[in-house]
Amino acid sequence: MTVPPITISHWLDNRRHVGSSADTADITNPSTGTVTGRVALATRDDAAEVITAAAAAFPGWRDTSLSKRTAVLFRFRELLNARKGELAAIITAEHGKVLDDALGEVSRGQEVVEFACGIAHLLKGGYTENASTNVDAHSVLQPIGPVAIISPFNFPAMVPLWFFPVAIAAGNTVILKPSEKDPSASLWLAELWKEAGLPDGVFNVLQGDKTAVDALLTDRAVKAISFVGSTPIAQYVYSTGTAAGKRVQALGGAKNHAIVLPDADLDLAADAIVGAAYGSAGERCMAISVAVAVGDIGDLLVDKLAARAAQIVPGDPTAGNEMGPLVTSAHRDRVVGYIAAGVDEGAKLVLDGRETSPLGDPKGYFVGPTLFDHVATDTSIYRDEIFGPVLAVVRVDTYDEALELVNSSEYGNGTAIFTNDGGAARRFTTEVEVGMVGVNVPIPVPMSYYSFGGWKSSLFGDSHAHGMEGVHFYTRTKAVTTRWLDPSHGGVNLGFPQND
Ligand code: NAD
Repeated sequence: MTVPPITISHWLDNRRHVGSSADTADITNPSTGTVTGRVALATRDDAAEVITAAAAAFPGWRDTSLSKRTAVLFRFRELLNARKGELAAIITAEHGKVLDDALGEVSRGQEVVEFACGIAHLLKGGYTENASTNVDAHSVLQPIGPVAIISPFNFPAMVPLWFFPVAIAAGNTVILKPSEKDPSASLWLAELWKEAGLPDGVFNVLQGDKTAVDALLTDRAVKAISFVGSTPIAQYVYSTGTAAGKRVQALGGAKNHAIVLPDADLDLAADAIVGAAYGSAGERCMAISVAVAVGDIGDLLVDKLAARAAQIVPGDPTAGNEMGPLVTSAHRDRVVGYIAAGVDEGAKLVLDGRETSPLGDPKGYFVGPTLFDHVATDTSIYRDEIFGPVLAVVRVDTYDEALELVNSSEYGNGTAIFTNDGGAARRFTTEVEVGMVGVNVPIPVPMSYYSFGGWKSSLFGDSHAHGMEGVHFYTRTKAVTTRWLDPSHGGVNLGFPQND
């Protein structure tokens, strides 16, 4: 029996808000193919209403003391920690990742809340006494206003959590535009903010698609945009948002390589690469999608990868399986299309995920782990971001060839090297043109107090997410020069101020 659809609405002034649009999109449970709800798709008028609420709340929140702001943050952290299982279940039901993975996503997001709880320390400016005779100088970091976060389907909680704890802690108000594929996590987080005592209008949610995004990109009241999604949309968001005079950080797609040097422990490397390639069915921007075998280890490495990958059977994500379905039927079809293309392009199909029988509802969007060997670098399965459980093995003779492969990729999000040679690893971390690098670590997602972001077509803008770069993105610096006049300084002087 189908579950009756419900409407997933916007959120403003600490309540659900249906809006004026009659347009909705279906929400589907990808492990059963059942429609479980409908999400509102905002009109420009709906967007204007939410932006107005965020703009109205800004002066009050900006002027709220740091101790009161951080008290709300600490309460939010406690509630999230106590109830993260509920959020994980919502993510699994709409995204399809297994429950453990959903919990992991929430925990990594929670780390950013914990980082933001220390905002008072992070917002300290500088002070210089007697910079010139009897003149003091100081700097302050002030919030910038209402800011928008536009997020992708693959981390419906963690990606928004990369941004909004820091933005809110720094005194900004927020409009979150979640992916229309899995929007329910945003409303759960909004309810939690309310329970934590966040004032009306500080955290808002605008549901929708391109219309909602375009409204956020062009409305003068929105001062900054944090976007995460595919590269073409990231590029569009960056150019449109900056042309409208906003700060924009737009994180895009990826094609992450793992380099395996001949001296590596191949069992450990295979364990790590299989986890990073097939975890969350490959729907991670930090997934490993290319393994580069250096020297004569190719056959052995492929055997080890295949043996491990063959053990993974996708199935019901709530029933203890290791891998769930893909997010939509359209995405499943796209991934299956790439597997067919890989065969046509002449790569050797070692493991075919199209043939896996899932441990779940046959109407779910399952594809099993797929492994290609001898992949040529001019093929679509090497070049394109497939965003599914498809791993391509490329064989090269030398470290230099492996480095050249990574550095000539369009993307520069994440990479990893597997080796026991410290010198080679050090050389790689210096020479590779990628934003996040792992040494024997397959998914090198930075801690919340560092910053997350790639290079090249994986990020448009100059600021990465969270850490100090996040604090700077959501604040602007003001430098103040002070002199308390005494009568001895009387008289007009038209010269340029100089230090004395
Ligand atoms: P997507 O680009 O389709 O959508 C991202 C957001 O943009 C969504 O909110 C969506 O509603 C909106 N959007 C979609 N089309 C639009 C358009 N034409 N105009 C304006 N807005 C539009 O991405 P997705 O499929 O949801 O997510 C997967 C992608 O995100 C992958 O490419 C993945 O690598 C990337 N990603 C990157 C990172 C990173 O940190 N670099 C992290 C997670 C995901």
